[in-house]
Amino acid sequence: MIRQNLLHQLSQLLQRVSQSLSKPDPQNACASCFSCCTARGLTQHRVSEIEFALIEERVGQAAADRFRTYIAKKQDAQGNYVYERCPNYDWRTRGCGVYEHRPFACRVFGHLKPQGTSFPSGCYYSERAEAFPAEDYFDKVPGAQELRFLSREFSLLTPPVAAHYLDPEQPAEADVSRLGQTDPVDRALLLQLEGRLEEAAILLIEARGHRLSLYLDYCLACLLTQLEQHEPALALYETLLESLPERRDFNYYAGYHALQLGQRRRAREHFLATVEALPNHSLALGFLGYMELQQGGWLEAEVWLLRACAADPDNPYFRARLQLIREKSVGLT
Ligand code: SF4
Ligand code: SF4
Repeated sequence: MIRQNLLHQLSQLLQRVSQSLSKPDPQNACASCFSCCTARGLTQHRVSEIEFALIEERVGQAAADRFRTYIAKKQDAQGNYVYERCPNYDWRTRGCGVYEHRPFACRVFGHLKPQGTSFPSGCYYSERAEAFPAEDYFDKVPGAQELRFLSREFSLLTPPVAAHYLDPEQPAEADVSRLGQTDPVDRALLLQLEGRLEEAAILLIEARGHRLSLYLDYCLACLLTQLEQHEPALALYETLLESLPERRDFNYYAGYHALQLGQRRRAREHFLATVEALPNHSLALGFLGYMELQQGGWLEAEVWLLRACAADPDNPYFRARLQLIREKSVGLT
């Protein structure tokens, strides 16, 4: 439901963007050129996950997969591009074969030109496009902010890869050069990078008052976790789970905060929900083992901790607790 809603909003946004951009001057200025639809024509061609998803939904999985390969500029064993030309390009019509659903970048190309970028040689628009400072991108390009909003919301629909939940202390890599002062998430991240976590949290709480956003809620929940604000963090993760039940990694955080609040049963339910969907979630496995140990359930604890160790063999806490269990069982025999 959320996915469909976001894709619908994206489709409408893309139509609006096309309508708001001035029409290229002569009707067929590109003539037979299609350089910007080739792997060598553009140095960079950004397409977000939600835009791939729209092509997948409207054109098909195979088309989206081919397009993804093209955008990633994948090469074969000989070093040749798998797709020299965009697989969406239609030779018969000499134009874009997914025109109605083409991504944002394909729509704004030729109209605006962030400084520091270049057009394919001979491009009709290279001297005609409106140039602007690259740092003004989100303010200058119509629809760019809205696309980013939708893209962020969409990103929450995909659970993270294992590496992320194995090391939750590791902050996500941020491209600081693209962070601006007009966007609350950017500003909060900049504050966070300076260690001003409370100010960042206040800023996000204020931003949530202006626009409903699961992504803002998620950012705030992460901050509350770092600030060890267990009660509001637990409430926020549980609220997020109501909208995003497939994000079982959120169950882990809810479990962690419940445990910190002494709510053992609630914590256990959340950890079990985590490992049911993410059987290698070492931290949830480790906490389940730890909780069993606290209750004197040595055998059960060992089972959980063995699984935790298998999922994350370098974690010294899991090994130390397993060692404790072994010493205990030797002492009992
Ligand atoms: S999606 Fe369409 S406009 Fe964009 S690069 Fe491919 S063929 Fe060109
Ligand atoms: S926008 Fe420029 S590069 Fe792209 S097809 Fe037209 S003339 Fe060629």
